Amino acid sequence: MDKKYGLGEFAKSLGCRAVYDEPMKCHTSFKTGGGADVFITADSAANLSRICRMARDESIPVFILGNGSNILVDDSGIRGAVITLGGGFKNICREGGERLVCGAGASLSRICAFARENCLSGIEFAWGIPGSAGGAAFMNAGAYGHSVSEVITSCEYMSAGGTRGTLSGEKLCFGYRHSAFSSGGCIITGMHIKLKEGGMDEISSRMSELMCRRKAKQPLEFPSAGSVFKRPLGSFAGKLIEDCGLKGMSVGGAAVSEKHAGFIINKGGATSDDIKKLIDIIKNTVYCRTGIMLECEIKFIG
Ligand SMILES: Cc1cc2nc3c(=O)[nH]c(=O)nc-3n(C[C@H](O)[C@H](O)[C@H](O)COP(=O)(O)OP(=O)(O)OC[C@H]3O[C@@H](n4cnc5c(N)ncnc54)[C@H](O)[C@@H]3O)c2cc1C
Repeated sequence: MDKKYGLGEFAKSLGCRAVYDEPMKCHTSFKTGGGADVFITADSAANLSRICRMARDESIPVFILGNGSNILVDDSGIRGAVITLGGGFKNICREGGERLVCGAGASLSRICAFARENCLSGIEFAWGIPGSAGGAAFMNAGAYGHSVSEVITSCEYMSAGGTRGTLSGEKLCFGYRHSAFSSGGCIITGMHIKLKEGGMDEISSRMSELMCRRKAKQPLEFPSAGSVFKRPLGSFAGKLIEDCGLKGMSVGGAAVSEKHAGFIINKGGATSDDIKKLIDIIKNTVYCRTGIMLECEIKFIG
């Protein structure tokens, strides 16, 4: 029996969902990407650990998927297993006082809404970032001068072999779009978040205000992965791209957004290859005109 099929069947025997040749365009915000050999939704830490151990023993590569909002999956797909966190990994609860405990599969938007309902302030900035808690911790997602590093006090993780651990405080090594997990190899399974008490009306209006800013500035009507490039020192990627006259430039179905030049949009029928070619054109043009080499924030998978 094919090893990846064996892993999928093993996951199913544990009660987890597993499907084969799953089109990744159904799981990425770019709406592009080929099939994953086996796509597993792990529902508990115990089952995740069993699946990871089997994948390691069978030398099956594993990619951990959050909400797929910061990745570009190759058109040829992903060889090996894609594991996403469902079931209990989506839980959010108030631990007491101003602390939340969140599974890594919970969406940032649900965490923000939960915090608002509990009159807890400090994570309003993340309202509208379409990632999971795990993806946000991995990337140290942020907006409007804040990042999740300000509110995450510790993360639980699982190693590739299925053993569990916790990192807290400085050991999380948060930096700009960087964390201790950025080098890969570990699965973030949950986290503790520390907020502060606030008024529901103030929290709500701050969230609405930030969402309005997003809608005004970002091409949310098209599939994208947000800002493609990291912010270069002392400048903004979108401004550099716009100044180079690249707004609206397209390759196949991929285009530099007219609304926000830092975004590449799928205006319909784009392939990941179109997006990659456009990224290369942008990087080369910006480098030739300004001497600044843009670095991608999105991750290339497959
Ligand atoms: C319209 C739009 C707006 C956006 N705005 C912002 C913004 O304002 N600020 C910002 O920072 N980002 C923004 N993003 C990008 C993206 O939403 C964030 O980077 C988000 O944190 C990615 O989370 P995800 O769950 O989608 O991760 P994915 O895209 O699924 O994965 C990203 C990386 O994280 C890893 N990963 C995911 N989950 C885990 C886990 N549990 N354990 C270990 N590794 C994991 C993956 O393996 C991958 O390497 C935007 C994207 C879009 C489409």
